[in-house]
Amino acid sequence: MSTEIPQQILDELTDVRLPRDVISPVASGTHDFNGVKLPVYRYPAVVLGSGAAGLRAAVELKRRGVDVLVVTRKLFWGTSAFSGSDKQTLHTACTKHRGDDFTKMAQALGAGGAMDADVAYVEAVGSIDAFSGLKFLGLPLPQDRYGAVLRYQTDHDEFGRATSCGPRTSRLMVKVLVEEAIRLGIPFLDHSTAMTLLKTGSGDEEKAAGLLMLNRTNHDNPYGLSLVLSPHVILASGGPGELYRDSVYPKNCFGSLGLALEAGLHLTNLTEHQFGIGTRRTEFPWNLSGTYVQVMPYVYSTDAAGQEYNFLADYYRTTQELASNVFRKGYQWPFHASRTLDYGSSLVDLAIFSETRKGRTVWLDFKRNPQAVPGDLPFSLERLDSDVRAYLENSNALLATPIERLQRMNPLAIELYKQYRRDITRDPLPFNVNHQHMNGGIEVDIHARSSLKGCYAVGEIAGTHGVTRPGGAALNAGQVFGQRCAAHIHEQLKLLPTLPEAPDSFDSALQHSLTWLERNVGNSGGIALAALADEVQARMSDCAGFICHVDDVAPALTAARRLNQRIADEGVNIAETRHLSEGVLRVQTALLSEAVLCALDHYIGQGGGSRGARMLCAKEGTRAPDSRLGSLDDYRFLAEKETHRQEKILLRYTPAGGMQISERPLRPIEDTGKIYFEKNWGAYLTGEIYR
Ligand SMILES: Cc1cc2nc3c(=O)[nH]c(=O)nc-3n(C[C@H](O)[C@H](O)[C@H](O)COP(=O)(O)OP(=O)(O)OC[C@H]3O[C@@H](n4cnc5c(N)ncnc54)[C@H](O)[C@@H]3O)c2cc1C
Repeated sequence: MSTEIPQQILDELTDVRLPRDVISPVASGTHDFNGVKLPVYRYPAVVLGSGAAGLRAAVELKRRGVDVLVVTRKLFWGTSAFSGSDKQTLHTACTKHRGDDFTKMAQALGAGGAMDADVAYVEAVGSIDAFSGLKFLGLPLPQDRYGAVLRYQTDHDEFGRATSCGPRTSRLMVKVLVEEAIRLGIPFLDHSTAMTLLKTGSGDEEKAAGLLMLNRTNHDNPYGLSLVLSPHVILASGGPGELYRDSVYPKNCFGSLGLALEAGLHLTNLTEHQFGIGTRRTEFPWNLSGTYVQVMPYVYSTDAAGQEYNFLADYYRTTQELASNVFRKGYQWPFHASRTLDYGSSLVDLAIFSETRKGRTVWLDFKRNPQAVPGDLPFSLERLDSDVRAYLENSNALLATPIERLQRMNPLAIELYKQYRRDITRDPLPFNVNHQHMNGGIEVDIHARSSLKGCYAVGEIAGTHGVTRPGGAALNAGQVFGQRCAAHIHEQLKLLPTLPEAPDSFDSALQHSLTWLERNVGNSGGIALAALADEVQARMSDCAGFICHVDDVAPALTAARRLNQRIADEGVNIAETRHLSEGVLRVQTALLSEAVLCALDHYIGQGGGSRGARMLCAKEGTRAPDSRLGSLDDYRFLAEKETHRQEKILLRYTPAGGMQISERPLRPIEDTGKIYFEKNWGAYLTGEIYR
């Protein structure tokens, strides 16, 4: 930044306090089931989760006059409230200079394949409202003197559609949305974990009816069981941060894809994730994208004896190539197999993977420039690839050391770590390559409707993304679909005001949950929760991570199935009732891990190759990355099949049938050029557009 920024401004953007004065709901009555008393909450709509996506849905519903209850495991916990990067990104149609083209933006969103064309277009068009709504609520999006929002280029973004409020864009989104929720009087049932998605009817008439919750503040029964009844359930519980050991999600982010599986919802694209460099969850999980690497810190590793290794020099041929690729990780942050070829930027991730497998710790040192490749000249700002040199020049950042460059380009990035007692002006940062985002999730249509009537999914739990997604598209999708589901529910209620079902309709679901809880609480012969977490997470990181050997997947799937069978046979040990929700969520995560492995195994069985953030290594692979020291044959990988880009893998679980997999072609979109005002106005006025 060419202007000196006062400390108070840095503080406001990094130390973001969230308001806590939300109101609690009042139960509409109690339900007595075999002597177990449960409070009952009845609302026209309920949102599960208080992240950016769920809050947007709630605010949009209430503004349309729909009474909505937000139920959440922990108010202001989750990825939106606790994650970020150097400039956490929001990706919306560019409102700067010459504007944007929605069709082109939709194509960019789906460029990696496996994304429905209608969903991509909805996200492109909807981004304008999503973003204007946030601006209206006070999100401090930076703009120029003419009111155009400042933009930059990020991952999978050739156009420059990214913008940011700094390291904590998503927390600031939570802040303005929750302030609005408070103004609107939306109630929050806090400390509540969803155990079961309640349904009524059967066959084609089956529909969502509410949630059975474990509420820590409810002492009416020993487990805190509470009934939340509603004909419209919006799942907005985020991504499965606890699925992988190597994960940059905040701790205790589970999401509820396991709950969705148990309810028989269709999931999609479970094979697709994002992995990239970040500081470790055991310390302070944070993405190391953008300026953190564009300033070209020295990347090195140490072994147990403290011996230092300039390991990237074994991969890149010249110091210039090494430094320029460290720089490029800034906007090519997610790992991508094809970028390991031709000495590209993902060779950095691969090299880190290889170092950590040797038991070494990998570090970023902002006080030192990259060290020379043996036999080559030392690092110099005069010897950089032209794009790198130009970027630093344009940023006025041709300064001697990485920390000086960072101070100039993004002082907020330094400030952020300082708040977590890490002074990167002084000490190096340990980091690794982590699971950061689940692109797949619940299969939804353009109104965020899932395969179960009355149940919607928004935010990271929805499988709206394809194989790749531009940086910032996750936050955008959550906002767009938060709006879309609210508009749809509002319309439904106009057409057919539906009341929540009577509490006793759910007695068999209740009995099932009670039996489960009675069996697993204090079940000293069951699997310990810590052991369950370790087994699932280690298997996912070691066998289904960003570098994945095809031969490892089928045995991993067998082991995951075996674990779920053990859970069914022996149960788990929830030693104390304060671990109730963790017990439920760990069991749901074990089911999810089987589903992900099942989808991956199926994809490999169909001849699937490396795509998105996963490199599928195999002896018969057709490509192998090269390094300065020769071909990296251990990382020979399978190429992607073009036909797989045109379809999505669907998965549905039933207790009787197990995991059922199918494929479907991508949903196309009509020729939007043929939509005209007079022709289409009526469809809007009659609500036809929602049907
Ligand atoms: C380090 C990092 C950096 C990122 N950077 C970017 C970026 O720059 N741009 C971008 O677009 N995306 C980014 N992402 C992804 C993005 O932040 C998330 O996809 C997004 O914030 C998810 O929002 P959400 O509202 O869907 O879920 P969350 O914000 O995770 O909220 C989920 C909510 O559900 C609640 N909950 C969860 N499970 C249950 C349950 N069973 N019962 C009750 N409540 C439950 C939680 O308490 C929480 O309130 C990043 C992610 C990480 C980890």
